[in-house]
Amino acid sequence: MRKKFVAGNWKMFTDHATAKKLAQEVVELMAGNHQVNVALCPPFTYLQTVGEVLKGTHIALGAQNCYHEKEGAFTGEISPAMLIDIGCKYVILGHSERRHKMGECDIAVNKKVHAALNAGLHVILCIGESLDERQANKTNEILKNQLDGSLAGVNATCFKSLVLAYEPVWAIGTGHNATPQQAQDAHAFIRSWIAKHHGAEVAAQMVIQYGGSVKPDNAASLLTQPDVDGGLIGGASLKADQFLGIIRAGM
Ligand code: PEP
Repeated sequence: MRKKFVAGNWKMFTDHATAKKLAQEVVELMAGNHQVNVALCPPFTYLQTVGEVLKGTHIALGAQNCYHEKEGAFTGEISPAMLIDIGCKYVILGHSERRHKMGECDIAVNKKVHAALNAGLHVILCIGESLDERQANKTNEILKNQLDGSLAGVNATCFKSLVLAYEPVWAIGTGHNATPQQAQDAHAFIRSWIAKHHGAEVAAQMVIQYGGSVKPDNAASLLTQPDVDGGLIGGASLKADQFLGIIRAGM
């Protein structure tokens, strides 16, 4: 039985005071709720502060990106070891905003995945098709290519430290979420890819989140699909009550 996992991707939002307050509100609202795994992924600059708020709770800390090198002359980059040092359990990699706005390709994502897993981080790997690709009936082909590329060389034993997030690009931040059936179909396809490459047992244990305009009022229909194991939440994770509404829908 897979435990649901809901993560908040705060993107490039909040300042120091609002990040601290938001984390405190989530902690208060989550008190005594251990039914769902939860992580908060603030901007790099607030990881320390949010980490202090989360200390002693079962809510995990995550980052939104990292670089693939251990250290060196890489101005502006953050290594996986630095994220562990500051208390991160998770790192989001391959988010569509990084793929499409920062030009990250599967080869770059794959290097980051290896570096993060080798350092001991858990990876939330995002994949998903654009609107044009969906309209051209290429969703499964795109998902397959992204899985083949981003997970090249990652062996089955590493999959226990891996979470996949199916995030159709057309649903992220748009208010147009995938229908529960569209999400279920994509998740089932992703699980079948894992089964084909790494076996049925690994596939059955794999947590696959859905991301893309999840709100408290549509969360239940998405998160109760058989292959949907939680959510990666952007906009609605910036309001503690909305985020908690989504977490409760997953229970
Ligand atoms: C995201 O940033 O991963 C995301 C799913 O954003 P939103 O929930 O705002 O669509």
